[in-house]
Amino acid sequence: MIKYLIFDLDNTIYPSTALINQNIPQRMISFVAKFLDISFQDAKLLRSQRLPHYGSTLEWLSTEHNLTNYNDFLSFVHPEEEINELPQISGLRELLTSVNLPKAILTNGPKFHAERVLNFYNISDCFTNIYGIVENNLKGKPHPESYLNLLQKEKFVLEETLFFDDHPKYVSGFMNVGGFSILVDRNLEFQNYNFPKGKIKTIQSIFEIPNLLKKL
Ligand SMILES: [Mg+2]
Repeated sequence: MIKYLIFDLDNTIYPSTALINQNIPQRMISFVAKFLDISFQDAKLLRSQRLPHYGSTLEWLSTEHNLTNYNDFLSFVHPEEEINELPQISGLRELLTSVNLPKAILTNGPKFHAERVLNFYNISDCFTNIYGIVENNLKGKPHPESYLNLLQKEKFVLEETLFFDDHPKYVSGFMNVGGFSILVDRNLEFQNYNFPKGKIKTIQSIFEIPNLLKKL
């Protein structure tokens, strides 16, 4: 019986077709280029090579390149104007309020970004709490502690919790701690991804959740 829901934020609450989804990685690469004093193209290549070894770009930079002022990174990647890159989504609030289960956000972005997005959609009150990358000591998903910390603090029971994320690596992270994950795969890109326990349940949009819950 599912009693609790955990949601990723970016590309899960809003669709991956959003402009912000293109611009966040672009801003990350621009930051890397500036921080390491290399070209944008070199930064793009280097990030693509190193990111698979880490949960996030921030974790990579702080571990390998001694980035200590993580606020520099987070505020550069998430300027106030990012709000203009979000699409309108009709019925989102109605969807979330219709699913009467405690819900929390687990994001590898900063909490201020999550608050900004949730406020934009007028859905902040639909969630019990937001766990961002700083709250997880810069070690976010897919590290086991990031999921376990949320479960413990929110008093969510692992076996009774569903986790939704658009990223196969983070979906797998929750599976690896024994949880039940749902992949939000808008374009069905990851049907052949090697998940820890074989095939995974996939939805293309969180608007499928009410039906999904009926079937579980
Ligand atoms: Mg995401």
